[in-house]
Amino acid sequence: NGFVELGLAPALVQACKDLGYTQPTTVQQKAIPLAMAGVGSEKAGKFVDLMVSSQTGSGKTAAFLLPVLHTLLTQQAEAEAAERAEYEQACADAAAKGEPAPKRAKRKDPTNPRNFKAPTPGALIVCPTRELAQQVAHDAIDLVQHCRGLRVANIVGGMPYQLQIAKLQNANLVVATPGRLLDLQRSMQIKLDQVQFLVVDEADRMLDLGFADDLAEINQLTIDRKQTMMFSATFAPRIQQLAARVMREPQRVTI
Ligand code: AMP
Repeated sequence: NGFVELGLAPALVQACKDLGYTQPTTVQQKAIPLAMAGVGSEKAGKFVDLMVSSQTGSGKTAAFLLPVLHTLLTQQAEAEAAERAEYEQACADAAAKGEPAPKRAKRKDPTNPRNFKAPTPGALIVCPTRELAQQVAHDAIDLVQHCRGLRVANIVGGMPYQLQIAKLQNANLVVATPGRLLDLQRSMQIKLDQVQFLVVDEADRMLDLGFADDLAEINQLTIDRKQTMMFSATFAPRIQQLAARVMREPQRVTI
């Protein structure tokens, strides 16, 4: 299976299999290894930015979702292992002193409104239209079906605020249109300062629809991120100008 060779986590390989994807498409073969070059604690921080030319139907959505999900999964596994090691050390220290084992920290009840904390997603995908954002979120939900602990949320205009806010709790990956995303950010229903991975899908349509200022704001709000990927049907000069503003020495992937 070509997805195994790309180095993707077993849970994601299984999801591809379930979806009937037997081989990665060309854009997936080219973009996924580049996008994952920074994964793993020993390589942390060495992510490259990508500027990808892509048409709808090329498999571009999975080309950005798979590496982002893989990286989030890897980080989660590393964090869990570190937490376990810390607890075991605390138990060993206690035993050496003849004390009882320490209690594990209790998780707070997320349904209690007093425990509300604005969600801080690790990955953000911005799309020009509601339809595209819904399609991308749908694909992401299909791909995380075997990933314990990864949650996907969709933020688009025209949906009731309360419902959207409820679904945002604990979201790791958010797929959004710019307007509603910035609304929720301004009303402090979401915090974007923990975003590590930003994807701008259909960047050319984003500019056609007048989202340049919103993109500039999203860029500033996520300025500490590790990686940016831009997907666009063309590399027209205005797209390159946008790329220069939101990315650092992006690698180009053309298919
Ligand atoms: P996209 O270009 O992302 O709009 O994807 C076009 C269609 O191809 C979607 O319906 C995907 O589910 C499907 N697809 C994506 N990757 C693969 C793959 N490796 N093999 C077969 N179908 C795929």
